[in-house]
Amino acid sequence: MTLANLDLTQDVKKIFSELGIKPESYTGGTLAVRSPITGQEIGRLPEITATDAAAAIEKAHAAFLEWRLVPAPKRGELVRLLGEELRASKEALGRLVSIEVGKITSEGLGEVQEMIDICDFAVGLSRQLYGLTIATERADHRMMETWHPLGAIGIISAFNFPVAVWSWNAALALVCGNATVWKPSEKTPLTALATQAIFERALSRYVAERNTAPENLSTLLIGGREIGEVLVDHEKVPLVSATGSTAMGRAVGPRLAQRFARSLLELGGNNAAIVAPTADLDLTLRGVAFAAMGTAGQRCTTLRRLFVHDSVYETLVPRLAKAYQSVTIGNPLEGGNLVGPLIDKAAFEKMQKALEAAKFAGGKVTGGERVNQDNAADAYYVRPAIIEMPTQTGPVLEETFAPILYVMKYSDFEDALRLHNDVPQGLSSSIFTNDMREAETFLSDRGSDCGIANVNIGPSGAEIGGAFGGEKETGGGRESGSDAWKAYMRRATNTLNYGRTLPLAQGVKFDV
Ligand code: NAD
Repeated sequence: MTLANLDLTQDVKKIFSELGIKPESYTGGTLAVRSPITGQEIGRLPEITATDAAAAIEKAHAAFLEWRLVPAPKRGELVRLLGEELRASKEALGRLVSIEVGKITSEGLGEVQEMIDICDFAVGLSRQLYGLTIATERADHRMMETWHPLGAIGIISAFNFPVAVWSWNAALALVCGNATVWKPSEKTPLTALATQAIFERALSRYVAERNTAPENLSTLLIGGREIGEVLVDHEKVPLVSATGSTAMGRAVGPRLAQRFARSLLELGGNNAAIVAPTADLDLTLRGVAFAAMGTAGQRCTTLRRLFVHDSVYETLVPRLAKAYQSVTIGNPLEGGNLVGPLIDKAAFEKMQKALEAAKFAGGKVTGGERVNQDNAADAYYVRPAIIEMPTQTGPVLEETFAPILYVMKYSDFEDALRLHNDVPQGLSSSIFTNDMREAETFLSDRGSDCGIANVNIGPSGAEIGGAFGGEKETGGGRESGSDAWKAYMRRATNTLNYGRTLPLAQGVKFDV
């Protein structure tokens, strides 16, 4: 079937009926949703008003006041059920991710697997929210730290990981004793609606098993930027975890700081890899191809800059260019295709602008043209572009959210490292090498300045066990694994006196 004849509304209808979602929730509203696969409208959602959003946040705050009283391992039980429900709905939700974002099937399913993984992680965490006991200078005293729930946590998410980002935040926030209020991307509200329905199923089972849970523990706000702003400005939201462009973070960060609320910012990346003389070039080729072309270049961790040592440049780059020419592009729901569409026309236009700018700066461009457009006029499929650049300049310093790989030659490792770090963003990075000195230097204090630094693996495709996030204009936030849970709790330092005297710290005397 050609793309032009493909009717995805039936798929959406089937998935939603499986999840028990009524048609009025996704038809007849004001927010039109298009599938990038065909460009066709697949839903029209009712949007919340700013007044109703503020009222919903008040209710979420009330839910937090109750939920924080439930013991953490019991809270973990809810997240365990959420993981089970996600397992049961993996096929349906994964397909919906593919339909709404245009990811290939295995990546749509992979996104749901990531949600399941973080639920498993959070369940274990629900028994490990521990603080320290700290030596005190005073006799018969004990000092310790305790961690407490924070409130109704705001989650703002981007289109490209429409549901995994919610789960990274929500699974941790819930076991930490918080309620959550989610403003998904206006480009991907259908997967958000489906996820909320899956959460509601888990919650019903939790309550049926005689556990206590308040209403409004997880709230979904469908709307655009102005609804995100309500979340950012609301005094009952102590933390907003916001994922999206650096421009969004630049607007959101200061607004949160203005009212002394916390922010967890997960913003744009401009990720690079260094290919050193000793690199295993077969492995490098595969690593680079997935990291640069996967998800049609629409991952925050997508590989965008490649520094290749001049001794291997002539071997690697032509092979890479060949892979770019032969990669299969098309309907992401059909097995065999590795590159799906861009999210929309605006993304295509930004890509073309970057290609022009690269040519102007002396870049040699291969690929980047639109393909398949005869079949579906409103869908934007492109051949990934590989651009040999004389220097790191112009568009190379920016994140263009499309499959563009800028390739540059280097001869001195220290120069490559300097160029690697010489961009405003600091999310993810890699080196391909078998030289232990280079690998260790790359991971050291004077190596990569990113939040994620890898050896012999591309920069994209993180596991949930590690903390995820980056430095500089990427925003500095960390979410998902490791001790990222601490962002969702407040820390109290407690000192107990079990003696009969009252010695003061620092030897201060105050005898009355
Ligand atoms: P975007 O910035 O256009 O939108 C992201 C979200 O922010 C949306 O929900 C949007 O409605 C909301 N928003 C925008 N302006 C706002 C404001 N002033 N106040 C409140 N909310 C506001 O991003 P996008 O196009 O959906 O996603 C692509 C971008 O996200 C890329 O830059 C990518 O690198 C980044 N991203 C980063 C990570 C990460 O973890 N670092 C993960 C995924 C995507």
